[in-house]
Amino acid sequence: MTRRIPEPFRIKMVEPIRQTTPEQRRIALQNAGWNPFLLASDDVYIDLLTDSGTGAMSDVQWSGMMQGDEAYAGSRSFFRLKQSVEEVTGFRHTLPTHQGRGAEQILFPELVKRCRGKQPVFVSNYHFDTTKAHVELAGARAVNLLTPMALDTAQAYDWKGDFDLPALRTLLEQEGDNVAGVIITVTCNSAGGQPVSLSCMREVSRLARAAGVPVIIDAARFAENAWFIKHRDRDHAGADIATIVRAMFDCGDIFTMSAKKDALVNIGGLCCFRDDDGLFRAVQVRCVAMEGFVTYGGLAGRDMDALAIGLKEGMDEGWLTYRIAQVAYLGERLQQGGVPIQTPTGGHAVFVDARRLLPHVPASQFPAHALACELYLEGGVRGVEIGSLLLGRNPATGEQESSPFELLRLTIPRRVYTNDHMDYIADCLIDVAGRAASIRGLQFDYEPPVLRHFTARLKPV
Ligand SMILES: *Cc1c(COP(=O)(O)O)cnc(C)c1O
Repeated sequence: MTRRIPEPFRIKMVEPIRQTTPEQRRIALQNAGWNPFLLASDDVYIDLLTDSGTGAMSDVQWSGMMQGDEAYAGSRSFFRLKQSVEEVTGFRHTLPTHQGRGAEQILFPELVKRCRGKQPVFVSNYHFDTTKAHVELAGARAVNLLTPMALDTAQAYDWKGDFDLPALRTLLEQEGDNVAGVIITVTCNSAGGQPVSLSCMREVSRLARAAGVPVIIDAARFAENAWFIKHRDRDHAGADIATIVRAMFDCGDIFTMSAKKDALVNIGGLCCFRDDDGLFRAVQVRCVAMEGFVTYGGLAGRDMDALAIGLKEGMDEGWLTYRIAQVAYLGERLQQGGVPIQTPTGGHAVFVDARRLLPHVPASQFPAHALACELYLEGGVRGVEIGSLLLGRNPATGEQESSPFELLRLTIPRRVYTNDHMDYIADCLIDVAGRAASIRGLQFDYEPPVLRHFTARLKPV
């Protein structure tokens, strides 16, 4: 029998969690307007809402926190961070930001200004939700060109995060001047935490550079993506993670990073540039106005030290092997229990295919969100919808956009839950799947105009 990989850490500090009764959960969900985002953390037993900023820092990171230099300008912590970024990515010009969207808000307006065409557009394998929001706030359109191989969740494919390269070629030919940037999201969160192949990254980079378009890497899960490349691409099987990471970053001119994911901190982000040119300097100016002075960008000195260390810890191969195996284990348990999931499992989460599990609930009644609510009622487990509710309406027409997926994401925080927690989650969801036919869809009580999934209130149909 293959042995399960145990947690590659010992637990030095614990945070108690509390189970609730079914009656308490029913009241809590009703008060939250059937939106798990609006639940109090105290009412949640196992929290799989996101892997963003929810990880546990190491003893080394905590000791780094004690050495933070809180100088407003030129802090030692900043120089340690800049050094770490350069070693890992090869990028020499670093702006810290308060988190990933901080990087997006200072970068995109400057890229739009520099766009040659009159109708600026950003092209990505798939825009993350806040990325899409910041593209639109900057007055541009966000176009997703994801490989069609990602759309069939039942069909395993190694690189479901890849671009649809023929479509990208056509778009660059037809609309080259309008393309303000090509964004490579690694791993591709919205497709199921799916990896992007190095060959695809290189081809995207080649095409964009030939068209004079900057390549932005949205690098939140850079280390998980590198692990997949090592384990799925024979050409790189012998390479170490650091070498693969560097090869990935070589494909970009700029990168944004939510450091709350693979870089193992609770808060922080990066906006980094290969060249010290007009763009970098314009983004610096915007950073000062919106995030903070260029050597702290909204972070405390101690946060930058934790990030400088986390960036490297997150690339440890033993850690990554355990992490991705833990996610795969949850996926296997669910599949054995008859729950349909995006296959193969991705880096940071298991994505349950609610369209297949609840075929009687139409997209307009948010099947994956209904499933998230049922899982919470069943066992106090909080997941999140990645589907029609998240995608929202077309800003021009007000029509609901048609979502390629209706997924329930079970996102696994880093170094927080053990494999016993995975068993409990699987047991609960398998029980929910057993009564799938009786699960009803949801409708709006209150629908916010943008990023509606965060604060919407719903009720059963
Ligand atoms: C989390 C995330 C972001 C946004 O970062 P925040 O730190 O949440 O602001 C952007 N892109 C991707 C791929 C992400 O996962």
